[in-house]
Amino acid sequence: MNNRALFLQHVAQTSDAPMGLEMVSAKGIYQYDVDGKAYVDLISGFSVCNIGHGHPQVLAAIEKQITAYMHLIVYGEFIQTPQVRYAKKLTDLLPDSLNCVYFTNSGAEAVEGAMKLAKRVTGRSKMICFDNSYHGSTQGALSLIGDEYFRQSFRPLLPGIYHHRFNDPVALEAIDEDTACVIMETVQAEAGIIRPDPDWITAIREKCTRTGTLLIFDEIQAGFGRTGHLFAFEKYGTVPDILLLAKALGGGMPLGAFIADKKLMRQLTYNPVLGHITTFGGHPVSCAAGLAALEVLLEGDYIAGVAAKEKVLKSKLRHPAIKKLRTAGLWACLEFADFETNKKVIDQCIQAGLIADWFLFNPAGLRIGPPLIITEKQLEEVCDKILLSIEKAGV
Ligand code: PLP
Repeated sequence: MNNRALFLQHVAQTSDAPMGLEMVSAKGIYQYDVDGKAYVDLISGFSVCNIGHGHPQVLAAIEKQITAYMHLIVYGEFIQTPQVRYAKKLTDLLPDSLNCVYFTNSGAEAVEGAMKLAKRVTGRSKMICFDNSYHGSTQGALSLIGDEYFRQSFRPLLPGIYHHRFNDPVALEAIDEDTACVIMETVQAEAGIIRPDPDWITAIREKCTRTGTLLIFDEIQAGFGRTGHLFAFEKYGTVPDILLLAKALGGGMPLGAFIADKKLMRQLTYNPVLGHITTFGGHPVSCAAGLAALEVLLEGDYIAGVAAKEKVLKSKLRHPAIKKLRTAGLWACLEFADFETNKKVIDQCIQAGLIADWFLFNPAGLRIGPPLIITEKQLEEVCDKILLSIEKAGV
């Protein structure tokens, strides 16, 4: 059996139509398949590889850490230098109230931890979240996601969860003294890059403060420079009570985090003690890799360069078949008439050497989120290839 047949037979499948590309290496903005064909990574592993693949500083940090130690003990018992240094670096970059980091393995686990923390801190269980939001696939996170098709087969889910339309003032009325938290993506990703209305997000913050409700921003996909700010919420001058990070946080290694004020986080230490436990969360190798990746991101001009690259997308991506283009930094949704059209374009993009995909809740939208290290010239070439792919798709 070849690898494709083995993959289909022995690796659990999540759909009947996996992309099925077989890569042997990845460097910078490129991934290379078994035949040596280069593909520009247009999705960065869904906002993971923000500084591209195989950065030498990240590889060196990983090598240093695996030589020193890998797993020592469950989370929270020993002082592990990579965790300490990374938590310090992150909290230095965040507003004062976000001063304590709980590292997890993944985004969904960060969501779960934050949900528990909100219940524990407020003594309430009602939660407000939004249509077309994605927060992960575990039971709690699944209860939050804003799409009935994905929820319906797994009931019963968590009770007391209420979905509202993103940017809808009606959501404000639903926040009350019984609400534990409002959880939202700062910029909605899988909906097809939907930005928050600045007045609405400010009003949400105010209502949460007034009712003692915790505001949770999920920046698992929006985070780490992609929107032109290190943290997407910086653009809106609105600070959450709990911030969720993952994906790019680990610099290519698995890592997530929920971040809050120490006064809140302390509540996970008593009644019960060990209020949230993980064996591998904050793995030292992941923390070392993530810290190195963050340093690369900050030392380079990558975040500052996002605005100019967003302009390239806006100026180049024009075609009668493109119905809408929504951007949030170097992150875009190129919307076609329907999924069938988008799929034809995506197939052509892949043939042209671009790794392209659609959005979970917006199948007519082509996802554009290349590594932030892409140059403007490379991005222009990518746009030309997309336009050519639209032509070739005959849509
Ligand atoms: N939140 C958002 C906004 C995401 O995009 C994702 C994953 O795509 C998650 C949470 C869940 O993260 P993970 O897949 O690491 O569990």
